[in-house]
Amino acid sequence: MEQITPGIFVMATCFVLALSLKEPAIIIIGAGPAGIAAATRLLENNFNNIKILEAEPRIGGRINSVEFGDAYVDLGAQWCHGQKDNIVYQLVKDLNVLKHTTFSSQTFHSSRKLIDDKFAEELFSIIESIYSADGNRDESDYTTLGDYNRTIYEKYGHNREKLQLALSALDYFQHVVLSYEGSFSWFDPAAKNDYRDCDGDLHLNWNGLGYKTILEVLMRKYPDPKQQLPIDDKTLLNKEVVTIRWNKNAQKDGVTVSCSDRSVYTADNIIFTPSIGVLKEKGSDMFIPRLPNSKNEAIKNIGFGAVMKVVMHFSKNWWGSSNGFNFVWSEEDKRSVLWEFPEGPHWKNDLAMPIKNSQDRPIIQFAGEATHPYYYSTVHGAIETGYREADVLINMYL
Ligand SMILES: Cc1cc2nc3c(=O)[nH]c(=O)nc-3n(C[C@H](O)[C@H](O)[C@H](O)COP(=O)(O)OP(=O)(O)OC[C@H]3O[C@@H](n4cnc5c(N)ncnc54)[C@H](O)[C@@H]3O)c2cc1C
Repeated sequence: MEQITPGIFVMATCFVLALSLKEPAIIIIGAGPAGIAAATRLLENNFNNIKILEAEPRIGGRINSVEFGDAYVDLGAQWCHGQKDNIVYQLVKDLNVLKHTTFSSQTFHSSRKLIDDKFAEELFSIIESIYSADGNRDESDYTTLGDYNRTIYEKYGHNREKLQLALSALDYFQHVVLSYEGSFSWFDPAAKNDYRDCDGDLHLNWNGLGYKTILEVLMRKYPDPKQQLPIDDKTLLNKEVVTIRWNKNAQKDGVTVSCSDRSVYTADNIIFTPSIGVLKEKGSDMFIPRLPNSKNEAIKNIGFGAVMKVVMHFSKNWWGSSNGFNFVWSEEDKRSVLWEFPEGPHWKNDLAMPIKNSQDRPIIQFAGEATHPYYYSTVHGAIETGYREADVLINMYL
């Protein structure tokens, strides 16, 4: 065992004592990856007076791994996107839980026709050259994505069937982009894209364990449950926060949080992690006094993607060796189903700005994927924002 020198021991004791004397009461709203990351970072730094208030009867937010057959399937986040500068990958890379995915996909048209592989590949390579979620592009490369529609007309204008398929395929890709980007249309200049991919394999899967594994790793339940951080005791489920009253002049307990079950909690600091959708729908009534205009503008203008999954179990394999399907819809077939489109460009920095008290110290902080400048829409982005806001408090109180 490593020897602890008396000097270090005295310093550590003083630090724990100092923290316990003025230990701030911190409430984290939301137990998704951002909230769990913030809580674990605080606990690891001896901030024990914390509570996580979670509206749902489970933790995880948009990570939702459920048992299905003899493995877990993910109703929410599924892939670890990339390796370099990816906090999820960094946290699990030595645990042998991620596996590379080999894709072989088929593309179907909504008329139930299989689109010829070669033509599908041609289309996708054109579209990929149009949209590459690569943050290293230089500003001059940003062209309104709608311009690329013209490329398709130039290439397939003489062939009605191919043109229709090409246009429908663009629409398919638009949905893929929207789910990353949260902008509302390729045809809007706002689709200028500040999202960044991490280098490396973009489709690492959890080998049947489910994305929930990352929550277990954050909470140190995995790989060794004996190392578990005391986070379960600090997490209150079924606590939907309805109002957050903040008093910028209070020296202590500056924030009072009320839940839909009428329970009330006070805190010195809040880390707010619910999604941009929650802020859009409830943000204007939730904060008393109201959030500053810059924040409300950001909430209004940030878009969000609509991603949905349906998990189906088939008794036998009818799809052969492919493990992926792309579905390209004709306009007519599309009208027969309900689609929702998000709106707005990016105001990430304003969204991430804290609400400060009269001493210019943060009392309400904002984390969650939507507050990340370039890894939004992802779990690794969400975790980084949780760590970011926890670190602000750690630095402020130490
Ligand atoms: C279908 C789908 C697939 C996805 N696939 C991937 C993927 O493959 N890879 C990837 O990296 N990302 C993926 N994502 C995105 C990823 O899931 C999110 O970016 C990430 O979960 C965001 O984490 P978060 O903590 O910011 O927010 P959330 O996960 O949304 O957590 C917020 C928490 O706040 C709680 N909350 C909300 N309102 C209140 C309230 N009033 N009071 C108390 N609690 C409240 C919510 O219940 C939730 O638990 C996917 C998302 C979806 C929907």
